[in-house]
Amino acid sequence: MTKIGFLQLNSCSGCMFAVLGSALFPELLKSVDIRLFRLISDIQVDTDLDIAFVEGGVTRDEDAELLRRLWTAGTKIIALGSCAVLGGIMSQSPNMHIDPISKFVDLHLSLPGCPPPRKLLGNLLMSAIDGSEITLPEKNVCGECPFAQDQAFDVEITSLHNIHPPQSCFLREGILCLGPITRAGCEALCINGATPCDGCMGTIDRNLPSTIANFFSLIKVSDAIRKYAALAFRYQKPELKFKQ
Ligand code: SF4
Ligand code: SF4
Ligand code: SF4
Repeated sequence: MTKIGFLQLNSCSGCMFAVLGSALFPELLKSVDIRLFRLISDIQVDTDLDIAFVEGGVTRDEDAELLRRLWTAGTKIIALGSCAVLGGIMSQSPNMHIDPISKFVDLHLSLPGCPPPRKLLGNLLMSAIDGSEITLPEKNVCGECPFAQDQAFDVEITSLHNIHPPQSCFLREGILCLGPITRAGCEALCINGATPCDGCMGTIDRNLPSTIANFFSLIKVSDAIRKYAALAFRYQKPELKFKQ
């Protein structure tokens, strides 16, 4: 049986609860040997794992050492969720330094999302059961959005939030939506819930600062909103400062 661990670093447990809530989880329980999963078991074996699903970013030397030890032993390391993949929303904290786990080890796979989208997470768990491959979509959130036909880039963005359920593309309504630069896979979850995308899946192009800068040069943004451009980096720290 494949030996699996679910490892939590600096995180909120949301990704692990998404695993527990997955329709695939009962199948996983029957098919693999889960040796580490703090939320559901006192048994915690963090050695001799074939696959480690890792939630959260790295804040402590011992976290980095554990990752390196697993990786050196041949464990396939899978980054689960935006904190593990990108640093995540926690990396915005002014009080601590958080790194994505790819800074310390080579990854077998990465699945971003805060938490990861249900369908892709199911595919990922299935891959642990039957060894199948998973790939992330190479299109953007707009490609899954019901308002894609209405998209407009020439309306001034004056708001970060909607008051009413949208009748058309958020950008057309003057509300900032990061769908054009965000990787698909969530089936436009937030937009279908009447909320603009804030980019939890990360950008398709890993060069985040230039992607964001290009996007902000493409759309028209009011001065008041430009002050909040850093919101575009909610899941990953920028290396680029915007002019205020
Ligand atoms: S990616 Fe989101 S849900 Fe997962 S641990 Fe980080 S903050 Fe929590
Ligand atoms: S910008 Fe947002 S609302 Fe508009 S099509 Fe893209 S995802 Fe949908
Ligand atoms: S719409 Fe954007 S923020 Fe919402 S789940 Fe999808 S990628 Fe994440």
